[in-house]
Amino acid sequence: MEAPDLEANASSSGKFDAGKHLRSAVWYFFTRSTEVVGTSKCTICSDVVKHANNTSNLLKDLKLKQPAQHKEAENQRKKEEKKASKRRKTADNLR
Ligand SMILES: [Zn+2]
Repeated sequence: MEAPDLEANASSSGKFDAGKHLRSAVWYFFTRSTEVVGTSKCTICSDVVKHANNTSNLLKDLKLKQPAQHKEAENQRKKEEKKASKRRKTADNLR
């Protein structure tokens, strides 16, 4: 019997691989607050951002206050999107 191999593929993604469920690159710049559920602290400007488990507020903080890091996070996200869409194509189309 064949098992899906998705987990094995995901573990080869390099330094942004947080291991668990924090997949988006933007989380690299935030630490989840343990005191207030649904908030995270920006590791750069130390602001606490309400995110309710979606990354758009976190990206907004980066965009407004840390444009360089925002760009980095966006680039990383695009790279991962590219990787994901490449994986969807068949090997025949890559040459
Ligand atoms: Zn910030």
